[in-house]
Parts: sequence; C-alpha cells; structure tokens
Amino acid sequence: MTDANGSAEQAWEQPIETGEAPENGATFDAIIVGGGPGGASAAGYLAMSGAKVLMIEKDVWPRDKVCGDAVGGKSLSHVAALGVKADLEASPHFRVTGIVFSSPKGKSVRVPLPEEDVARLEAGYALPRAQFDSLLFNRCQAMVREAGGSIIQGGDVRTVLFDDGNGGEDPGEGSGDARHAAGVVVRIGGRKGEEFTFYTKELVGAGGYRCPVAKSVVESSYSEPMIDRDHYCGGYREYWRNVKGCGTNTGDIEIHFVDSVIPGYFWLFPVSEDVVNVGIGMVMGLLDKQKKKLKALQADVIANHHLFKDRFAEAEMIPGSAKGWQLPFGSPRKKSKLSPRRSSMNGVRLVGDAASLVDPFSGEGVGNALVTGEIAANHILEKKTPLEYQEEVWKVLGPELINSFRMQKLSRRSWLLNWFVGKAERKPALQEMMTEMIASKEAQENLHSPWFMMKTLLF
Ligand SMILES: Cc1cc2nc3c(=O)[nH]c(=O)nc-3n(C[C@H](O)[C@H](O)[C@H](O)COP(=O)(O)OP(=O)(O)OC[C@H]3O[C@@H](n4cnc5c(N)ncnc54)[C@H](O)[C@@H]3O)c2cc1C
Repeated sequence: MTDANGSAEQAWEQPIETGEAPENGATFDAIIVGGGPGGASAAGYLAMSGAKVLMIEKDVWPRDKVCGDAVGGKSLSHVAALGVKADLEASPHFRVTGIVFSSPKGKSVRVPLPEEDVARLEAGYALPRAQFDSLLFNRCQAMVREAGGSIIQGGDVRTVLFDDGNGGEDPGEGSGDARHAAGVVVRIGGRKGEEFTFYTKELVGAGGYRCPVAKSVVESSYSEPMIDRDHYCGGYREYWRNVKGCGTNTGDIEIHFVDSVIPGYFWLFPVSEDVVNVGIGMVMGLLDKQKKKLKALQADVIANHHLFKDRFAEAEMIPGSAKGWQLPFGSPRKKSKLSPRRSSMNGVRLVGDAASLVDPFSGEGVGNALVTGEIAANHILEKKTPLEYQEEVWKVLGPELINSFRMQKLSRRSWLLNWFVGKAERKPALQEMMTEMIASKEAQENLHSPWFMMKTLLF
C-alpha cells in the first residue's frame, strides 16, 4: 500500500492503539467530542494539568481530512507545547519559504518567508493532514491515558445530555441559559453498534463544522442559526504528482486569483517533493450563483488556463484524492450579537470549526483550532464562565478575523487584485509589508491603521 507521497506505509498510516472504551456510565472531569486539531489540543492541555478526560473520535485512525494541508506559523508553538514538534520535523514535510500570489491578469508577487528568520516570522509547513493529525492525536491520546483518562475511536456522539445544573431535569430545548451540559450518548462500532452514556459537567465541542455539540448549543439550546452561507466556504482538493515547478521539499506555496474562480481562489500547496495539494475554495453564498461547481471549475483551470495547462501537461491526479468539505469562516455575522457566533453555554465550550473560526481570507483553520483548544482547557481548569470564554476567544482572534474578512471582500474585485499585485510586483517595500503581515502578529496590527496602509500602497 502506498500513501499520498507514493511511498511505503508510514507510521501515520498505521492504526493507533487507544485502549479499552470506558465502562458505560463513567464520569469524567471533561469530555472532548472530536479528535482533530481542536479536540486533540483541548484534551492534551487538560491532560497535562492532570485532568481525567474522555476524548471521543467518530473516525478510526488512520484517517484523511480534506484540507489545503498548510500548517501556518500560529500552529507551531502549539505543536511544540504539545510535544509533537520533533516527530513532525522527523517526518516528511514541505518547508514553506514563501507565498506566491497571482492576479487575474497573470501578474504575480512572491512574498518571502525567509528561513533564517523563521523563528521571528513563524513561517510554516505543508504536509498531508492524514499525517499531521495522526501525529497530534497519537501524542495527545497518550497524554490523556497517562493522566488516567480514556479514548474512544469509532465513537459517534449522537446526543448531548443536559440538566438544570444541579442534577435536576433538563429544562428543555430553547431554554439556553437554564441548561447545563451533563454528558453524551455515544454509539460505538458503526451503525449497528452499541450506545454508551458518559457523564461530565465540562464538555468541549470539537467535532468540526457539523459538530453535534455545536448544534446542541447554537440550534437546540438558543434557537440560533448554525450555517450562514455568506460565512461558510466550499472547499475542494485533489492530490497531484509531477506538476511542473513543484519538485522539491522546500519552497513556495501558491495562491492564484484566477478570473474564472474569483470570488474564490485556486491553490497549489506542495506537501512533499513529489505531491501537490491542488484545490479551490469559494464562499457558498457566491458559489450558489455560479453555474459550475468547484470540481468542474478546477478541472477547467487545470486543462485550459494559460498559466497552468503546461504545468499539468504531464501531471496525474492521485486516484481517490478528490474530495470536498466546508470551511466555517470566523467572519462576524451581522445578525448575531455574539461574534462570530455563539461558542459556549453552561458547561460547554466550542473550539475550532465547531466555533466557526476559519480565517475568511486564507482559509486557515488549524491554528485557530489549536489556539481555542488551549483557551478552552484553561477556562475549564480555571472554572471561568461561558461568557468569559466567548469574550476571550474573540479578543484573541477577533481583530485578525475582521481584517481577513475585509481582505476577502476586497479580493472579490478583479481590478483591485490586478492593481495591488501589479504594484507589489514592482515594489519591494510592499512585498516586505506582506511578509510581515502574513507572518508577524505585531505587523498585522498595522492593518488597522488606514494611514499605514495608504502610505505603503501609494508611495
Ligand atoms: C478544502 C479545505 C482546505 C483547507 N485548507 C486549510 C489549510 O491549508 N490550512 C489550515 O490551517 N486550514 C485549512 N482548512 C481548514 C481546516 O481543515 C479546519 O479549520 C481544521 O481541520 C479545524 O480543526 P477542528 O479540530 O476544529 O475540526 P476537524 O479537523 O474537522 O476535526 C473534527 C473531528 O471531529 C470528529 N467528529 C465529527 N463528528 C463527530 C461525532 N458526532 N462524534 C465524535 N467525533 C466527531 C471528526 O471525525 C473529526 O476528526 C481547510 C479546510 C478545507 C475544507
């Protein structure tokens, strides 16, 4: 059997041994629903502090996750803190040293993320999520079990249980603030599997964009909408081999604002010497207005676009790699009082995609899942209120999510992209600014300053 890299089976393609499921009726300090980056992070940080945790994952490792596979700088401090950095660096990965942006007219600008400045600029990696998630889950499940907790793989959380906070009856759907998380019902072993009930007063919803815990908070408890098609993005990815211009394990990732794809973008993210993650993303409300769906749009770009048809002339797609999924953006909703939408209630904190926190410009969500996993763990340990969680998440991530939303809206205009990329192609100061903006948190604050932006763009 070969992997996305075309090589013999690797450690992350092996099953992960996670021990016996706990006894039906067991109680935990916290239950984490979902074993992706958000869930692994929350479980790992809680276990580090000695909490007895149950982490439940619907899938069974090895498992794939549809993604662009870019792991940005924000993720790296968590990768290190959770003890995965050495394993990750010892496994094959693509070292990102720059980002190439191209405009609809075909002009391009390269934003370098220099290797000698990696520590300060926090440049990142690209590697298949099957590999990244396996390394992270494996490490965090080991920490959970060492701390006396349990792991379930192949466990589908079907129902979230609530009570009145004092062990009394569930006040019922729509009763929001009067309800408190009490536990979950999990079906283990597929459709005909057995149902188990586990109890906790601290639940973390980390089940991605369709997280059952998020639904029970947002829709059932508060009767608020989960999905807003103006703030959800459709994403489609394929793995390809032999794409011209991609043949090393270090270099640039590419983001192309191709005319036929705007208001979305087309990406080429190499994940190894040989394999490239090729994909396309577009806000769903805008996709609804297009005649072609993402798969057809991508096929058209690869076969016919003057910038790409030669590069793909001898390339081949890895069979079985074509998959689509949704990205719940963290852009603030006009109609919601809480930004980007409700992410907590008594005894529940939502993290990562379950809290709708994907960057609305870059499509990055792994970093925000890891960040909120840590915040959720700290708030559980410090017994903070649901509102404090909602507020801290927005305080930490809100400014960059608002900026990215602005940039996403600007990038829907072809003329502006042509003007900006054309200008940046000729102006080293603008390239440097983009490097800082992408990689350095302090520099991102400059985006709030209209004077700074005007000065850099015009002079
Ligand atoms: C096409 C595409 C491209 C992307 N590109 C990038 C990129 O390049 N870089 C980046 O940083 N981000 C990217 N993202 C976003 C990124 O994939 C997500 O933001 C990230 O995976 C969020 O992590 P998470 O842990 O919150 O959720 P997930 O990774 O979705 O993990 C959720 C987990 O919960 C489990 N689960 C679901 N339901 C249940 C249940 N009922 N019971 C138990 N477990 C359950 C799932 O099996 C899954 O393992 C992309 C997304 C898409 C769709």
